[in-house]
Amino acid sequence: MGSHNVTGRPPRTAVIVGAGMVGLATAWHLQERGVDVTVLDRTGVAAGSSWGNAGWLTPGMAMPLSDPSLWTYGPKAILDPTAPLHIPARLDPTLWSFLARFAGHATHSAWRKAMAALTPIDRVALAAFDELGAHGVTATTNEGPFIVGFEREKESAGFIHEIHEVERAGQEVPLERLANPRTMVPQLSEKVSTVFTMGGQRFIEPGPYVEALAKAVEERGGTIVSKASVTAVNKATQSTDAGVTVHADGHDPFEADVVVLATGAWLPKLAKSLGVRTMIQAGRGYSFSVPTDEPARYPIYFPARRVACTPYQGRLRIAGTMEFRRPDEALQPRRIDAILASVRDLFTGMDLDDRQDEWVGSRPVTPDGLPVIGETRTPGIYVAGGHGMWGIVLGPATGKLLAEQIVTGRVPDEIRPFNPLR
Ligand SMILES: Cc1cc2nc3c(=O)[nH]c(=O)nc-3n(C[C@H](O)[C@H](O)[C@H](O)COP(=O)(O)OP(=O)(O)OC[C@H]3O[C@@H](n4cnc5c(N)ncnc54)[C@H](O)[C@@H]3O)c2cc1C
Repeated sequence: MGSHNVTGRPPRTAVIVGAGMVGLATAWHLQERGVDVTVLDRTGVAAGSSWGNAGWLTPGMAMPLSDPSLWTYGPKAILDPTAPLHIPARLDPTLWSFLARFAGHATHSAWRKAMAALTPIDRVALAAFDELGAHGVTATTNEGPFIVGFEREKESAGFIHEIHEVERAGQEVPLERLANPRTMVPQLSEKVSTVFTMGGQRFIEPGPYVEALAKAVEERGGTIVSKASVTAVNKATQSTDAGVTVHADGHDPFEADVVVLATGAWLPKLAKSLGVRTMIQAGRGYSFSVPTDEPARYPIYFPARRVACTPYQGRLRIAGTMEFRRPDEALQPRRIDAILASVRDLFTGMDLDDRQDEWVGSRPVTPDGLPVIGETRTPGIYVAGGHGMWGIVLGPATGKLLAEQIVTGRVPDEIRPFNPLR
């Protein structure tokens, strides 16, 4: 990898494109190292996937998405419009090329290799939240435990096996069978026969958390510019002192020593011409919140239905589905119906028809399950993204490690496997 910035000295100024969890965490950590930051977003803070997600800080579940079970549920994804993974059966060569690569990683050995690459960053993920919390990011993180429920005991085998693999790779993820789940979680219906608690993980309200992070960046002197849709990023001409010029619709060009592209599922638009060949496909997920009779205190996961629930603003947020469509396509109400149909009989004591905050967001999914973090082919231009299902829990650690690389020129070991030029 080349020198850490164009001018050969540590950068003094940076433009970050994308005000999601990843971009803002990177901005915060660059400030921590004395860099002046400007964050640009085409819409505003948390306008992308960082808003309506489940807010799970679960390094113990931050594993590669493509795994051998794809061969069982994959075909259903194309044929059954209510399946948790939905692939519209239309002719989209980019999508099919992504799927071919994604399927190419659905082997035990590819999964283990990717898990080994993720484990070092998983292990520092929660400490990175503590660091933000100790230095002015006022939003809280909540302890679990997480509740993991199954309709039939035999459905739990696959999940337990996955968690054991995560432990084998180097994390501790305590699972315990609950004898009387309904005393702890009155929202579970009698149909949920087999329930575990999962310890060592946390959760947040993601939108408010990312807004608190944005506020901290501004309080430390950073600038956040909304409605700045970036169209091009170039190395500056020799005549200026700055390293990189960023063009955004309706704004004068922004100049800085370095630029970080953190545009989530939109990353390929700007990064492909910079040598980042890893495909990033929008894996769109949906969520909404409902009121519960008794307060919902713990996150609830139904692995067999692929639905994740989180206490949110006094309600329960229910999130799920993975839909491979383009990030800017409209919300498909059928996907919300599919989530509802899949959990209706597993819950009791909540009004699933009083829904608020219906939302769709795009997980930035890579074929190999690894993010892209580091310098592009153009010195001074960096990318941070492609975390798929896990950009919230891994966002702060990503920002910290990338800021270290940008300022020192050394690539920290934890992000070495995520070289964007792989
Ligand atoms: C239903 C669902 C549940 C999820 N649950 C979890 C979870 O529990 N835990 C977890 O860790 N992760 C979860 N995720 C994944 C997580 O939401 C994402 O990985 C993460 O938010 C990605 O953050 P990001 O900052 O990379 O991208 P984003 O948050 O999408 O931010 C990208 C930003 O870039 C901006 N942008 C795009 N193009 C441009 C441009 N040209 N110029 C300027 N700005 C631009 C966008 O407006 C956007 O604000 C979930 C996702 C979904 C959909």
